[in-house]
Amino acid sequence: MHKRIHILLFLSGTLFFPLCFLHAQIALKDFALTGVTLIDAGHTKPSANQTVVVKNNMISDIFPDGSKILPDSVVAINLNGKYLIPGLIDTHVHMATDPSDIDNRATTLNVLSKMLYSGITSVRDMAGDARTLASYSRDAMTGDIISPNIYYSALMAGPQFFEDPRVVSSTKGIVTGKAPYMQAISDTTNLVLAVARAKGTGATGIKLYANLSAQLATKIIAEAQRQQIKVWGHGWLQGARPTDLVKAGISSVSHVPLLIYENFDSIPVSWRSKHDDKFWDDSVHIHSDLYKLMKANNTILDATLLTYKRAAKNENSRWYYQYQIGKRLIRDAYKAGVKICTGTDDDQEEFVQYEMQLLTEEAGFSNMDALIAATKTAAEAIGIENTRGTIEPNKIADLVVLDKNPLAKIENIRTVFLVIKNGEIFKADK
Ligand SMILES: [Zn+2]
Repeated sequence: MHKRIHILLFLSGTLFFPLCFLHAQIALKDFALTGVTLIDAGHTKPSANQTVVVKNNMISDIFPDGSKILPDSVVAINLNGKYLIPGLIDTHVHMATDPSDIDNRATTLNVLSKMLYSGITSVRDMAGDARTLASYSRDAMTGDIISPNIYYSALMAGPQFFEDPRVVSSTKGIVTGKAPYMQAISDTTNLVLAVARAKGTGATGIKLYANLSAQLATKIIAEAQRQQIKVWGHGWLQGARPTDLVKAGISSVSHVPLLIYENFDSIPVSWRSKHDDKFWDDSVHIHSDLYKLMKANNTILDATLLTYKRAAKNENSRWYYQYQIGKRLIRDAYKAGVKICTGTDDDQEEFVQYEMQLLTEEAGFSNMDALIAATKTAAEAIGIENTRGTIEPNKIADLVVLDKNPLAKIENIRTVFLVIKNGEIFKADK
């Protein structure tokens, strides 16, 4: 189990980490990370021997080692030979689908703590019980729980969707379809009020889920833009095709295999069985300017390869052909220059580091582009790019110190030495 230890260490201006630390949270107000090699979207060519100063939880300065004198109030942490990347971001988790049962508090807090110590400093929850999520989000932000920062969604879908057992468990005690964070929307819904109710839950964005027409999705997005709340959603809503959503101005679309519904109303029957790679390579292409349009509108693709990959182990399931479709569409989208972020949508046995690995192994990403997907682009998908996602002065200090270079080998993303979230240091046991 993780132990939470608050300590203050001042050793003649330099901090050393004794080997006896178990998982620890280290309280230091102002500190400097020295001797690091910076890697982020702004340093795609790694910048060696740098000092990064953190003051009042913010990155206040970055300069070559020794080129400026550190004030006595700043504790230097010598990290010679180590690598510094922005905190990782998972843009698709579900932490509170059923808080009374499988997502009970003890289980969830355990996962959140593991996530943070693995280097994840922010997550986007893509719909669950927002009463619970609001509490976790507050406690994560203040540091009362050991967790990445949590940004969550208010879901909207057509009335047909509300028999889904996940909705029932997420809205216990409320008439199904009427919870402000899980609203059934029809042509007669007052959308001004519906968007205002969603916003009032503290959600960062509205998630469009299923059974919505293109016309209704377009109206919701327009009203959300007017009330200044983001809209993200599935890449296909039965009634609305990917192009309809992108044209309407949706900010991110989830689940790359759903983009194939640009071509079809349903997956062709002949596709629903095992085929060789040539069949899939020849068959799976989008017959429209969807990627061009996504690029032009800055629509971010939340691919969620991981969840399909894991489910596709059963070759007789629909996940198998969905994964074959998805991994080809993401290659095309990547080549076309579509922005892609890193959502996992899994049961949290594997984290975003595995999604990054899949992007490189299956979708042709460079290691650098996988890192950008999990940091800068993921921050953009949530709408927190002004404060997080890169290593720059005046950004909040969400950082990960790695023992080994992730550009040399993507698995090195797991060689975590330290995690810093909101300027607080977390040291994992080795
Ligand atoms: Zn999901």
